[in-house]
Amino acid sequence: MKAVLIAPRKYVQGRGVLSEIGTYLAMLGRKPMVLWDPCVKGLVGSTVLASIKAAGLEVVEVEFQGESTRSEAARVAEIAKREGADVSVGIGGGKTLDTAKAVAVEAGIKMVTVPTIASNDSPTSAASVWYDAAGNCIGWDCWPFNPDIVMVDTQVIANAPVRAFVAGMGDALATWLEAEAAFKTRATNLAGGVATMAGMALARLCFDTLLAHGVEAKRAVELHVVTPAVDKVVEANVLLSGLGFESGGLATAHAVANALPSLPECKRFMHGEKVGFGVITQLCLDDEKPTDEIYRIVDFEIAVGLPVTFADVNLEGIGRPRLKTIGDIAAAEGSICHNHPFKVTSDSIVDAMIAADALGRERKRLASNR
Ligand SMILES: [Zn+2]
Repeated sequence: MKAVLIAPRKYVQGRGVLSEIGTYLAMLGRKPMVLWDPCVKGLVGSTVLASIKAAGLEVVEVEFQGESTRSEAARVAEIAKREGADVSVGIGGGKTLDTAKAVAVEAGIKMVTVPTIASNDSPTSAASVWYDAAGNCIGWDCWPFNPDIVMVDTQVIANAPVRAFVAGMGDALATWLEAEAAFKTRATNLAGGVATMAGMALARLCFDTLLAHGVEAKRAVELHVVTPAVDKVVEANVLLSGLGFESGGLATAHAVANALPSLPECKRFMHGEKVGFGVITQLCLDDEKPTDEIYRIVDFEIAVGLPVTFADVNLEGIGRPRLKTIGDIAAAEGSICHNHPFKVTSDSIVDAMIAADALGRERKRLASNR
C-alpha cells in the first residue's frame, strides 16, 4: 500500500495579489494565454492586463464560452498552440479553471488558476470536471499534475456574492468527514494512493478552521470586507479543502451531492450547497459520530445558511420512491459512498436522507427559538 500527496507548486493568497500576477507568470513563461468571460474581465481585467504588461509579457486573451466541455477545451487549446502561448491561465469560476487546466495539458504548457469566487475546491486540484453543452455533468479527468501556481486575491473573493462563499464552506466542511471515512477503509484517493499524515492533518485543519471562523467570515463577506476570519476561511475553502479532498478521499457526502441533480428541482443549487445536505446525510449514516458533534456540525450549517432539510434543497414533501432514485445513483457499484467502514446501500442512504431532513428541521426549530 502506498500513500500519495499531490499539490500545486505554488499557492499565493492575499488582498490585492492580482496586481502581482505578471511577476508570477514571468517565472513560468513569456506569453500567457488568459481564459476568462466578459463579466470576470470587467471585474479584474484592467489589473491583470496592467500587471502582465508591466512584467514585459505578451498576452493572448481568449473569451470563455461558459461551459466546461471537451469541445471548448479543444477550441481553446488550438488557439493556445497557434499563438505559441506557454502558460494557460484560467481566471474565474470552477468551469473556467477546469477548462484552462485541460488546455494546459493538451497544449503541453504551464497551468495557472485564479479563482474569483471561493465556491468549491477545484483551483488547487489536478482534476477537470466535464459537462455537456446542456450543462449536465458527464465525468471528470485527473491530469498528471496540479497547477503550477494558484493565485487567490481575497478582496476579489470578498467582493463576490456571499452565496458562493457559503457554498465553498459546504464543500470544505465535507473534506475532513469524508477523508476520515476513506482513511479508515484505506480507500484509494484521487492522488492514486491512501492519504498521508499531512493530507489528513490538512483536512482536519480545514474542518476546525470553518467551525471556528466560518460565521465571522460570512458576516464580513456580506459587507465585502477582508478580515483575518475571511483570510482563514478562504484558505480553508480553496487550499485546505482542495488538498484534503484530493489527497484524502471522498465518501457519501459527495455521492449524495453528485446524485441530487438527477432530480430537476435540485439543478439550480451550487455544488457546495448540495454537499452541505450530503454532509448531514453522511452524519446520519455514521454509527461512530457522537451526537453532540453531529449537532455542532448541523448547527454550523444552519448558522452560515447551508441546506440541511429537503425544503432547503427544493425537495419539500418528496416521497421515498423519488428518493430511491438518489439512493440508487449514490450507491451504484464503484461509488465513493462505499468508502466507509460500514456497508452503505441505496436503502440506507434513503433512510439517512429522511433522518437528515428531520434532524435539520429539529435543529432549525431550536435555533429559531433561541
Ligand atoms: Zn466537492
